[in-house]
Amino acid sequence: MNAFPTTVSATAAPANKIEVRNPATQETIGTIPNLAAEEIVAAVARARKAQAAWAAATVRERARIFQRFSELLCDQKNEVASVISREAGKPETEALSTEILVVLDTLKYLKDYVPQFLRPEAVPHSNPAMKLKSGTLLREPYGVIGVISPWNYPFSLPSVQTLSALATGNAVVLKPSEFTPFSSLELQRLLRQAGLDPDLLQVITGDGAAGAALLSAEIDKVVFTGSVATGKRVAQAAAARLLPVVLELGGKDPMIVLEDADIDVASSAAVWGAFMNAGQTCLSVERCYVHESIYEKFLSACVAKTGKLRIGNGAEKNTDTGPMIHERQLRIVQSHVDDAIRRGARLLAGGKPLAELGPNFFAPTILADMDHTMTIMREETFGPVLPVRSFTTEDQAVQLANDSEYGLAASVFTNNRKRGEALARRIHAGTVMVNDVIACFGISEAPHGGVKASGIGRTHGRFGLEEMVWPKYVDSDRMPQMKKLWWYGYGPAFGDQMKGFVELLFAKNLINRIQGGIKSTKSYLRRKLL
Ligand code: NAD
Repeated sequence: MNAFPTTVSATAAPANKIEVRNPATQETIGTIPNLAAEEIVAAVARARKAQAAWAAATVRERARIFQRFSELLCDQKNEVASVISREAGKPETEALSTEILVVLDTLKYLKDYVPQFLRPEAVPHSNPAMKLKSGTLLREPYGVIGVISPWNYPFSLPSVQTLSALATGNAVVLKPSEFTPFSSLELQRLLRQAGLDPDLLQVITGDGAAGAALLSAEIDKVVFTGSVATGKRVAQAAAARLLPVVLELGGKDPMIVLEDADIDVASSAAVWGAFMNAGQTCLSVERCYVHESIYEKFLSACVAKTGKLRIGNGAEKNTDTGPMIHERQLRIVQSHVDDAIRRGARLLAGGKPLAELGPNFFAPTILADMDHTMTIMREETFGPVLPVRSFTTEDQAVQLANDSEYGLAASVFTNNRKRGEALARRIHAGTVMVNDVIACFGISEAPHGGVKASGIGRTHGRFGLEEMVWPKYVDSDRMPQMKKLWWYGYGPAFGDQMKGFVELLFAKNLINRIQGGIKSTKSYLRRKLL
């Protein structure tokens, strides 16, 4: 079933190969080619050739392949979940709920929404001078979309972006993370099995250099998901050739717990939101602000719930939280925790690696009494840490939440939904959830993306589809035999008529509008057009 070798190799992979390891066990689960720039250029050329016929296919023809893919994915969900879990370390349950389910729901959304999205849209005109024209908006596929993906959601992220691109008539060349390529290879395998022309989705494996080579190849747009640092490099490379970009970057998502919130619900949300996928989610709860009146009770509830989490290999059925993807990430987490403690944070749980489980495991950590001088409150930690501080007033909570260079998502917990929704409007983030965390990613209709350093553009939903097409406006004049009034043949009389026309449309006073109308009438009878 799995499209990759499972033999353990003791020797290092040659330079043109990359060894992929299971982050829980350190076992080598396979090797992938580190493709050279020429191979990537050739893949893009093949994609371009195949795209022309795909763009000409009907929406229904494309939908048939997606339907078959959906059935295959549903049938093979356990195998795909195990591939995801093995290379990303997450529990198989999470692979099902946050990856496979998201992709299946996206397929349903695309089936329901894409036909109307791609239908030519009439554009009515209000300008009387343009009334003799009919306007139509068409949505044209870009051509070849380059998708560059991270390792934390190795199946759902590239799949949603790839399927949205394909559904709108594009071809895709996908560069997955070198840490988790096999989930994308599963996507490719199932789409081909469903009948997709192999050139329409090509997974090109390799490290950052392969991503850079994709940017230099003849793609028409890039959808990049990853860190802010790499995102800036991608944006610079794209700017050099005016390549359109979508950038889905990091986050430092705040969670605000108001004094009327249910402490049991909010503490469960905080623990899941901070530790799910070992905290390696762009939408993780990375900062938590709790009203001073419930602060200590909330902390105690979080500590008690964290104590019950089972840490281990994601392949084991009882595991709640798996390992970090690699030791480098673990060292970043440790440095953020150490810096916070040095600056006066109170350590309530965890705070250290769990070396007995393997080199990539870090204990779910709760820190209290945070302030914004601490690195952990400013930079993305991307690990299992819940840093909490108290606030006094709603204004202070909003100010703290907005005091960040990031703006991906945020959450507000309160028993008064109206109050939560009002607060949501004051927070600078692409998504604000009231009484939930992270789950917005599972809503296929909802746009996903951030403001500030969290990125540019959107994926998912209508706005995600708009990123995959360029708008073409077709203006069709209903009077082909008529020269237009505004063409050459200018002179003082025409100047006066135009002044009259402007007054007819926009003068404040009714008398001026009538006079303007009279002055402009003659323009309709102009005979001296060139
Ligand atoms: P990363 O930036 O290190 O790598 C992302 C991808 O870019 C990988 O495929 C990598 O090989 C490739 N790459 C590296 N250098 C490149 C270059 N110069 N040109 C082109 N491609 C290059 O990110 P990561 O560590 O894989 O992922 C974690 C980050 O992703 C976190 O910051 C997280 O918040 C972010 N993320 C954001 C979202 C979102 O939707 N906003 C979702 C998931 C993850």
